[in-house]
Amino acid sequence: MALIVQKFGGSSVANAERVMNVARIVTDTYKEGNDVVVVVSAQGDTTDDLIDKAKEINPTASKREMDMLLASGEQISIALLAMAIEKLGYPVCSLLGWQAGFSTNSVYGSARIKKVNAERIKLEIGKKNIVIVAGFQGLNKYDDITTLGRGGSDTSAVAIAASMHADRCQIFTDVEGVYTADPRKVKGAQKLNEITYDEMLELATLGAQVLNNRSVEMAKKYNVTLEVLSSLVRAPGTIVKEVTTMEKMLVRGVTKDTDVARISIIGVPNVPGIAYKIFGKLAAKNINVDIILQSVGRGDTKDITFTVAKAHGEEAVEILKNLDLVAGLDVVCDTEVAKVSVVGAGMETHPAVASTMFEALFEADINIQMIATSEIKISVLIDAKDADKAVEYVHNAFIPVIS
Ligand code: ADP
Ligand code: ASP
Ligand code: MG
Repeated sequence: MALIVQKFGGSSVANAERVMNVARIVTDTYKEGNDVVVVVSAQGDTTDDLIDKAKEINPTASKREMDMLLASGEQISIALLAMAIEKLGYPVCSLLGWQAGFSTNSVYGSARIKKVNAERIKLEIGKKNIVIVAGFQGLNKYDDITTLGRGGSDTSAVAIAASMHADRCQIFTDVEGVYTADPRKVKGAQKLNEITYDEMLELATLGAQVLNNRSVEMAKKYNVTLEVLSSLVRAPGTIVKEVTTMEKMLVRGVTKDTDVARISIIGVPNVPGIAYKIFGKLAAKNINVDIILQSVGRGDTKDITFTVAKAHGEEAVEILKNLDLVAGLDVVCDTEVAKVSVVGAGMETHPAVASTMFEALFEADINIQMIATSEIKISVLIDAKDADKAVEYVHNAFIPVIS
């Protein structure tokens, strides 16, 4: 007998038929003699629909009230799944985030989990109940509902698995695992049997939506082995863990992120302290900066270009325009850009990866605006309109299409 945590995303519970399908997967696991804790997301596009509803009434609604609204999506799915399990004749109990013991900090909209007090879950398991927990939500120190940021249910599942020392943490979704690129968009994307936490963390951070990056960070920290698999096809998925037994692939995956804005400041004074003043100001306002490029000075001036998340583009421009040093200079924000990245632990020792990637982009006739590298990834910033083509060409350069 084992303790198994199973998480089902929005598409896996999108309608009554899918909810019944999930109920069968869960009860099959329970029937084998396991204790089962299930985390579910809101059905289908519910969270997006709730955001639209809020915008109709107040586009600048407070984040507290947004969380109050968005958390309701998961409340619907836990109740429906519990009803489906009751219908199959099994004992079940659904719990909201706070009932399941999720305490978070107070950053509404992207709260971090501080602790999971699993007493209530344990009590229900003691009564032989299958426990269904609402993902994506918790309670802060003011007893207010918080949400964990988009895709946050993955993190809820990992947090439960970590705090209860679960034997298995399965993330069920609408594809059969983690692929070398988004299998819905890239022909020839291949399913990976295994991937390391570090590679998965980079892929998730750089746009592969299949796992939320905070969930991977937490899985790594608490050494929770994850299995990503399909709720629609019963087949082995992808194992995410510390070390893989697979031979090191040069490139494990190719991904794109279109949630990027590029900001350029032209002609800043070519003197010490400029970067500190600009980025210090942005950091003070909690604006995360990604790729940074500073030109070599031309006499008295130089240019600084960097990227931020789209949502922070306009705000960053405003902040910079109010900075003495920058006042009166050209500050340009371009949101029609995308970041395309290759990720793989094997590239550390293979200098040819960068040139192979750049050659593929050249063959696709795509201009590179900026480049950033780390030991296990190379990212380029390009025109948004070229993003899909870039992923396809770069993917084909590393992972040949098997027909
Ligand atoms: P869920 O609702 O189950 O949380 P998501 O929509 O958040 O599911 O994530 C699953 C989707 O992630 C897939 O449908 C797929 O299109 C997308 N995806 C992007 N990159 C990858 C990748 N490298 N491997 C697998 N899926 C990916
Ligand atoms: N329902 C939330 C969202 O759509 C959380 C999740 O799906 O993980 O982002
Ligand atoms: Mg998701």
